[in-house]
Amino acid sequence: MCVIHTPMRIEFEPAPRPQDISPQDWMDWRWQVRNRLKRFEDFSMHFALTESEIGGLREANQAFKVQATPYYASLAEPGNIHDPIRRMMIPLAEELSDGKQAMSDPLAERKYSPAPRIVHRYPDRVLFLVTDTCSVYCRYCLRKHFTGHDEAFPVRTEYQAALDYIKNQSGIREVILSGGDPLTLGDERIEEILKDLSQIPHLDLIRIGTRMPVVNPMRITNELVSRLKIYHPIFIMTHFNHAKEVTYEAAKALLRLVDNGFPVLNQMVLLRGINDSAEAVEQLSRRLLRLRVKPYYMHQCDPSLGTDHFRTSIRQSLKIQRELWGKISGLALPQLSVDLPGGGGKVGLVPDFLIEKTDSHWRFRGWDGVESTYIEPGYDHNF
Ligand code: SF4
Repeated sequence: MCVIHTPMRIEFEPAPRPQDISPQDWMDWRWQVRNRLKRFEDFSMHFALTESEIGGLREANQAFKVQATPYYASLAEPGNIHDPIRRMMIPLAEELSDGKQAMSDPLAERKYSPAPRIVHRYPDRVLFLVTDTCSVYCRYCLRKHFTGHDEAFPVRTEYQAALDYIKNQSGIREVILSGGDPLTLGDERIEEILKDLSQIPHLDLIRIGTRMPVVNPMRITNELVSRLKIYHPIFIMTHFNHAKEVTYEAAKALLRLVDNGFPVLNQMVLLRGINDSAEAVEQLSRRLLRLRVKPYYMHQCDPSLGTDHFRTSIRQSLKIQRELWGKISGLALPQLSVDLPGGGGKVGLVPDFLIEKTDSHWRFRGWDGVESTYIEPGYDHNF
């Protein structure tokens, strides 16, 4: 069995490959794409489905595609209906009800789209939605209004209009390639986009938001990495939600990226019954840090259609963050944030440590209950 041992002896074990699939096929990312589980019958071969899952698979597919790579499906324990991978991958009947704050476009991305495939919400950066395709459709996806509608690469005129927009806005310093998942595109396509962006003088860097290291880590080939690194600086934004997702294959993909000079940052989403505890976040953060991946954001789940059963309360999310605050290092602690529904942008949340505030001083109670005063410059101790 191949196991990666990091210097601190954390083990990363491979996904359980079914006996009838050759290692060559299993490790081929295109094979993983070709053999995705999509239909009710595909899932019922692997899992004893509950009534709620049967309802979800029969109906939810029409509203938001169901799809998973065999690799990702193999990470779920077949007999455990609460398995976190299973919960993120197989829809429940609850997904059919819109929920209390159901929004098809919770971040108002359509409103902030001045050109095809562009979302321009902050002055110095834009999202460029280069494909609507993903290897696995996460049931809590915030972009259900765009993702999974079979419009993979933008048509030529749209692509050119998006590029022209970026070229004509000199205040844009970063382009975030997103979707869908940009790494579902072929190497040539990705290189074409990077080459075009590299001609724009006011851009400082490119980010690629991808879930491929999680759901199809075989995609991070030597060939892909060699093509991408020509266009550095490129930051890779991954989306691991649970320690179970950090397998041997995922670890290999992440190490290949960081060893080739890509800073890798992880954005997780807090999901009820999946990772909504300080222990679950800590476990994931520690595994990622061993691989030199920085736990970056811990997002509040957006009120996208059919996601009420995934959402934690902000109160609970803050409790998780408070528990982690004194327990794990700043490197391991992701920033809790809420993307404001309706398009107000991200808001960072921190536990409330402030007890009292005046012109002269601020009084705090720290994570372990110790109280202390910070005196503003120019005031005495006897304020
Ligand atoms: S990878 Fe991202 S865009 Fe694709 S389904 Fe998951 S959350 Fe949505």
